[in-house]
Amino acid sequence: MRNEPAASCLTSLPAADEGDASSDVIPEAWNRATLRTWLLAKGDPQQRLFAAAREARRTAFGDRVIVRGLVEVTNLCRVNCEFCPMRRDNTRENKIFELSETQILESAAEIKRCGINIVFFQAGEVKRTTQIVGSVLPKIRAMFDGRVELLLCLGNKSEEEYRYLKNQGATSYILKHETSDPQLNEKMRHSSFANRIESLKTLVRTGYKAGTGAIVGLPGQTIESLADDLLLARDLGAHMVSASPFIPAPDTPLAQYPPGDVSITLNFIALARLMSPRWLIPSVSALETRRNGGQSAGLAAGANVLTVNFTPINERENYLIYGKDRYIVRNDHVNEIVANSGLERAASVFV
Ligand code: SF4
Repeated sequence: MRNEPAASCLTSLPAADEGDASSDVIPEAWNRATLRTWLLAKGDPQQRLFAAAREARRTAFGDRVIVRGLVEVTNLCRVNCEFCPMRRDNTRENKIFELSETQILESAAEIKRCGINIVFFQAGEVKRTTQIVGSVLPKIRAMFDGRVELLLCLGNKSEEEYRYLKNQGATSYILKHETSDPQLNEKMRHSSFANRIESLKTLVRTGYKAGTGAIVGLPGQTIESLADDLLLARDLGAHMVSASPFIPAPDTPLAQYPPGDVSITLNFIALARLMSPRWLIPSVSALETRRNGGQSAGLAAGANVLTVNFTPINERENYLIYGKDRYIVRNDHVNEIVANSGLERAASVFV
């Protein structure tokens, strides 16, 4: 089901003295030009944008932050994304790992012990994850007596594979489109953008709670295409949307480029919240990598999801999604920033 935009929040923001923020409902405002302006907001207008986003979150979810437990299954990947150290060209240099079923089940048990009921499996894009993850899903569902969200982020797969994983118990699936600019997308991912979008449509059609997301600040990206990222997520009928600042990771062709702008990333989050108040929007670890306190800033901009890393400690350092310096989110960090934001931890909304 499509989430309806809270256009009033956006259209009432331009001037502080315009009065009641909920008085105008002008859906036409959700266009490229308006989004472009707000993506660039700074100073007082930006603070009002964030305040409106927090209010939209409060109305939709209360003061709650949904907490996920992440397990990274393998760092092997057949794709060659320009921005990722786990890209195919680095396979020989990287220390490749693949979790055993025992390691996966132990990680899931640890997630349960921490009171989290979203088990999130992420991996590089390789065919074998369909079997590896598919075979453990029923066991994890049984471990939680059925009261669990099984969230996957395993890359492009066939419709048959998506259906198999769903039949095994998967609830939700994240497949980030990364950038809605078709030329830039294919330049960055060396893979078909049209197929990616078709996969997202397939996920929605087959009954997954589907997530997408964008990288902010890729070399050659325009602000207009970031506006398009938001419109695309809405048009796809996504249930979850993310924005991550670009991290120029070592051992990638983009290592020498400047990082993505945190302020624009936060504006993207706030606009996403206002565009579709029921979206699940994470405050991603890349925000913390880019700026101390970045994930708290994400919550202050309207995000409502945090992810704790439960990958076995000796394999975490080999999951090089942003290079070796990525910020590993632990349970106590999540407790601290949730409490400091005046919010409370919450369970899956899809169970
Ligand atoms: S971003 Fe994902 S699909 Fe692209 S190379 Fe890295 S792990 Fe593979």
